[in-house]
Amino acid sequence: MNDELSVLIVDDDKSNRQVLKECISGMAQVLLAKNGAQAIEKSMSLLPDLIVLDIVMPDMDGFSVIETLRNRSQTQHIPIIFITGSDSEEVEMKGLKLGAVDVLSKPLHPGVVQARIYTQLQNVFQKRLLDALVHIDALTTIANRRQFDEVLEREWKNSLSLGTPLSLVILDVDYFKDYNDCYGHQAGDTVLKKIALSLKHGLEHTHGFIARIGGEEFAMILPNTPVEFAVEIVENAIKQVSDLQIAHQGSGCSSVITLSAGIHSMVAKNTSDNARAALELADRALFKAKESGRNQVVVADSVCLPA
Ligand SMILES: [Mg+2]
Repeated sequence: MNDELSVLIVDDDKSNRQVLKECISGMAQVLLAKNGAQAIEKSMSLLPDLIVLDIVMPDMDGFSVIETLRNRSQTQHIPIIFITGSDSEEVEMKGLKLGAVDVLSKPLHPGVVQARIYTQLQNVFQKRLLDALVHIDALTTIANRRQFDEVLEREWKNSLSLGTPLSLVILDVDYFKDYNDCYGHQAGDTVLKKIALSLKHGLEHTHGFIARIGGEEFAMILPNTPVEFAVEIVENAIKQVSDLQIAHQGSGCSSVITLSAGIHSMVAKNTSDNARAALELADRALFKAKESGRNQVVVADSVCLPA
């Protein structure tokens, strides 16, 4: 199916682990744990896509393992298949009530194990696909607004807790409406794709993140990047776009497609400062860049806040 998927097998019995491993290794990467403590540790550090968990184990049984995993945000969504040697309905019910997606009975029949695990892996794979679609801009295939908001929130928290500088950038294609009027919307879409790829390429050797957040508007998040480096990165990125030499007869500032950008850099200092307001400052800097003739980068520090 997909060798990027991983399954954690948890069983105190070595021969069971072996049987399960043989069943699963053709479908996914196999991880092994022989007790509850190891199961929790490996689940937290390796974040498997699926866990196959024995119920009866010494020290910590499968029920305790699932309760622990369900109480931790990193692991609470990982699907779990229980293995039970008991044919009691009660045991099965308890497992399902705790959130297991399926129950396997011992003795293990490889064909049945494989079919059940295949079904669960397919679910995981489809969820992952859907999740990717929800976070990608269909036209340019770079990140979309939703993903941008999520990354911004995460990086804002990082800046707050680590005290590292964070730079936010909003970029806009100059005279894009005129481009569409002049060359048609299909040509406009092609330009947006080219710009997206170019901007993404420009961030390749940085920790920067790029998204398309509106029609002809893009945004970058540059973690751990002080303003002087941010300016350098953005100036390079927009130079790469103008170097594409996409003719634009309707542009009021150049003969080719260009970008304007606004940057705001800060260390998130307190919680009353919020990421939205920071983004707003980058947006105002962009406005200033537009007002000052476009095809340029403006840093928010030089922007006067309205009274
Ligand atoms: Mg056991």
